[in-house]
Amino acid sequence: MVTGVFDAAVIGAGAAGMMAAAQAGQRGLRVVLLDHAEKLGEKIRISGGGRCNFTNIGTTPANFFSQNPNFCRSALAAYTPRDFIGLVERHGISWHEKHRGQLFCDDSSESIIAMLRRECDAGKVAWRMACTIKSLTRQADDFRLDTSQGEIRARQVVLATGGMAIPQLGATDFALGMARQFGLKVVEPRPALVPLTFDAQQWAPFGLLSGIALEAAVRCGSGKSRTEFLEDLLFTHRGLSGPAILQISSYWNPGEAIMLDLAPGKRLGDEWVAGKSGNRQALVSVLAALWSRRLAEQWLASEPGQDGTALGAMRLADMPDKTLRGLAERIHNWTLHPTGTAGYKKAEVMRGGVDTRGIDQKTMQTKSVPGLYFVGEALDVTGWLGGYNFQWAWASGAACGRSLHKAA
Ligand SMILES: Cc1cc2nc3c(=O)[nH]c(=O)nc-3n(C[C@H](O)[C@H](O)[C@H](O)COP(=O)(O)OP(=O)(O)OC[C@H]3O[C@@H](n4cnc5c(N)ncnc54)[C@H](O)[C@@H]3O)c2cc1C
Repeated sequence: MVTGVFDAAVIGAGAAGMMAAAQAGQRGLRVVLLDHAEKLGEKIRISGGGRCNFTNIGTTPANFFSQNPNFCRSALAAYTPRDFIGLVERHGISWHEKHRGQLFCDDSSESIIAMLRRECDAGKVAWRMACTIKSLTRQADDFRLDTSQGEIRARQVVLATGGMAIPQLGATDFALGMARQFGLKVVEPRPALVPLTFDAQQWAPFGLLSGIALEAAVRCGSGKSRTEFLEDLLFTHRGLSGPAILQISSYWNPGEAIMLDLAPGKRLGDEWVAGKSGNRQALVSVLAALWSRRLAEQWLASEPGQDGTALGAMRLADMPDKTLRGLAERIHNWTLHPTGTAGYKKAEVMRGGVDTRGIDQKTMQTKSVPGLYFVGEALDVTGWLGGYNFQWAWASGAACGRSLHKAA
């Protein structure tokens, strides 16, 4: 039984889907928004530690990772962080900048969900939640959605079901399946913004450092593909996490090494050699002034001793230059081989997704199937940590919502 005929059906009532539906609805289109979840906007709710890092005022295309890096330019330029801040302020939501351009709600991410809901209501968007989409087919000029709430027909369909991160919150690969069904290419999806894991035996000594955080420069790749971030690093039982690792995880490929500089901006070898004369400080104290004592002790315990004496107990003045420089080199270039990632259960986003070479960058419409759109994280556009992924969701949603049109 056909339960509704619409200009556009938006599948996925998350960040990008609500933005697209609201924009189209407010332009007078008949829009229906469908989601299989019971609760609206779960990822927005848990984002930013419950305060939603809703944008980054420094957003540029360089903050995104994709096989088609220029694709995001047009949508990001047409809907900027300023545009979203304007929306947030019109709804009376107070916000603050935490650091590096990251904007958070003062109160709770619930206010962003409520705002998007009000925006959809202002566009008279019809809701179908919790609604399972059993199939999506194209017949003549219309799309037909067979759902748990009956059949829906729409001239245009927007796939806004996001990526696969946090399946326990209902994330699925629905958009990727639909892309393949309609003959579009998919860039291999992988967990991103995710902790990295290491061989359990090799990691055991560092597992004792779980909970220690410090600023580090982390890099991977070489030549043109070399990527580096300066962020906080966190030791965990199974490996490494914290913003530095989450950022580099989006660029890391299985089998590759990552390199960490645990004293970024310093030249420890030169400093130590120049300052060692008469310096009676134990090496462990020198390192403990740089990091926490626990890390200093553990690091030196894993270093080879000097003539039978544990390195930590030795005084700076007594250390040969070569030994000091060797130690400094290992601190500035700590090379690790992750065995994998903590997976979609712990990832913040999915990298890869629908290949954007098959999508129009101004409208988010597929080039090969008229009326079929993809927005948000389902596309092969992955933002850095720090509000960029939401900015992409808003910008791609807005680009799509503005270009959807009324059925003739
Ligand atoms: C823990 C965590 C914290 C995060 N914090 C931030 C942050 O602070 N800042 C930031 O920029 N980004 C953050 N992100 C990333 C951000 O949440 C996503 O990039 C963003 O939500 C993507 O928007 P989207 O609309 O494409 O997908 P989503 O917001 O994930 O929405 C997809 C919607 O589709 C629905 N859906 C999925 N499958 C189906 C299906 N088969 N049928 C019907 N409906 C379906 C889902 O229920 C969901 O409502 C965080 C992510 C996580 C996991």
